[in-house]
Amino acid sequence: MSFLKDFDPDIYDYCVQELDRQTHHLEMIASENFTLPAVMEAMGSVFTNKYAEGYPFKRYYGGCEFADGVEQLAIDRVCQLFGCSYANVQPHSGSQANGAVYAALLQAGDKLLGMDLSHGGHLTHGAKPSFSGKNYHSFTYGVELDGRINYDKVMEIAKVVQPKIIVCGASAYAREIDFARFREIADAVGAILFADIAHIAGLVAAGEHSSPFPYADVVTSTTHKTLAGPRGGIILTNNEEIAKKINSAIFPGLQGGPLVHVIAAKAVGFKHNLSDAWKTYAKQVKANAHVLAEVLMSRGYNVVSGGTDNHLVLLSFLDKPFSGKDADAALGRAGITVNKNTVPGETRSPFVTSGIRIGSPALTSRGMKEKEFDLIAHRIADVLDDIDNAAKHQAIKEELAKLAEGFILYHQPTY
Ligand SMILES: *Cc1c(COP(=O)(O)O)cnc(C)c1O
Repeated sequence: MSFLKDFDPDIYDYCVQELDRQTHHLEMIASENFTLPAVMEAMGSVFTNKYAEGYPFKRYYGGCEFADGVEQLAIDRVCQLFGCSYANVQPHSGSQANGAVYAALLQAGDKLLGMDLSHGGHLTHGAKPSFSGKNYHSFTYGVELDGRINYDKVMEIAKVVQPKIIVCGASAYAREIDFARFREIADAVGAILFADIAHIAGLVAAGEHSSPFPYADVVTSTTHKTLAGPRGGIILTNNEEIAKKINSAIFPGLQGGPLVHVIAAKAVGFKHNLSDAWKTYAKQVKANAHVLAEVLMSRGYNVVSGGTDNHLVLLSFLDKPFSGKDADAALGRAGITVNKNTVPGETRSPFVTSGIRIGSPALTSRGMKEKEFDLIAHRIADVLDDIDNAAKHQAIKEELAKLAEGFILYHQPTY
């Protein structure tokens, strides 16, 4: 990093401060993770200089022979990882990937059925502020008060709505998604089934969550959440017709030049995901989330759906005198980073909420196991039990910073 330090000390300084923050805080935002140093090196590589519009061996620019090798390797690895035939590794983000799926398969105004944002769905699943709710006629399904999807109800809604596409997958849902059941629903109404596995992809890749294949017609994911790769998106399918439409929707439909340096980093990430170590990691992610849920329930907190099948825990404070926003702020004072989240039966606005979402992937990447998660879950409960006690929060922050120092970021760059 000496080039950056010499040339731009201001940005260098922010990097140093951010590394310090990442080192000493406990990162428990369910959508975040720590990637490998090898992934970061590829992201910072010479491929950032290269234009490669088009696809491997079919480019609009010269000098793409090495970019072709990179992108083809990323495609081959991700197809092996998820057991599918076609992949587009160019989406700049998960939202771009979803936009391409709609652009490829829908006309403006077509009916889309997705999970309600306030019930755990994503903005791009038809929420009104998103292009997905503006350009398409969107309808939603949600969860019951027990925090679970009622598949019979989704079937009823689908039969009334008659959507062109059904989106399954979520951003704040702690239970296994039944892709086979969604296939039945899609078949009953002649809809395309689109699975967005942005949150659970790392578990799916390890066999720790059921796969959307062979059920879904098309699958998208981010690469930076449970997959622990670089920030970006992917689109997968077994259907050649859909694959062709997706490729045209990404380029020239929505994007220009691909981020070849990020595609190189995606390939490195997929190599990591294909290793035996990955299976061990994914198992540990689930075991750690399980400890969080069990301890918080034993301390009198309401875990939505009564537990977790994946990497996240949703806590509801509907029975408590404080909001998700209050809890988020108090935990922040104690050095624990989470996010406020709406919960089933929500009574507050999305800016306040009555819950928080807590995830295990990032701290698991730092090497923490059940023992540490047990302690952290107790400290979370200690903070929430005494939500106005700033002095106590500060003391917990100091204790947890010491704990965190014992799990130094293994990819620590040499600033
Ligand atoms: C995070 C997420 C996305 C969007 O990913 P970005 O890279 O932030 O655009 C899409 N779908 C789901 C379900 C997500 O959780």
